[in-house]
Amino acid sequence: MALLTTFREVGTYFREIYSGVASLVRGMRVTGGYFVRPQTVTQRYPENRKELKMFDNFKGELILVHDEQNHHKCNVCNTCMRKCPNGSIEVISKKIEGADGRSKKVLDKYIYHLDMCTFCGICVSVCDEHALKFDQEFEHAVFDRSKLVKQLNLPGSISQKEANNE
Ligand code: SF4
Ligand code: SF4
Repeated sequence: MALLTTFREVGTYFREIYSGVASLVRGMRVTGGYFVRPQTVTQRYPENRKELKMFDNFKGELILVHDEQNHHKCNVCNTCMRKCPNGSIEVISKKIEGADGRSKKVLDKYIYHLDMCTFCGICVSVCDEHALKFDQEFEHAVFDRSKLVKQLNLPGSISQKEANNE
């Protein structure tokens, strides 16, 4: 009886060794597959950063859209600034004299605090002029935090309405 028990224990011992080796070989086969076919996205970054395209509704960085004539569509209504939940936008206006001699309010500086933005998208959705959108920029790391405060209206740009003397 004791001999039978010993045989069973020896059999269990070798079965467990076989099971362990089989499991190791299965795991190594998967690892080996990835080793000879390195297809994962992270392995290509950052070398592919120039070609890397994010998905269409990715919210990278807020921009004020400008056309080829350097015209934007902001009419200084301040809605985006008022609706932004954490004060990430400053719309600064100035007065100019229009073609009809009357004073009118136009955009001086559109300041965006990327360091505070939560990318909620409210500013884009509340702008009736469709003046804002998010671009595809996904790298925001800087050593100097002040670089995250950006002026979105380009140098020399004016609004389309201003350009049309409206
Ligand atoms: S970006 Fe749009 S919502 Fe914001 S001030 Fe200009 S027109 Fe108004
Ligand atoms: S995305 Fe949201 S938090 Fe960022 S500027 Fe627009 S409204 Fe403000």
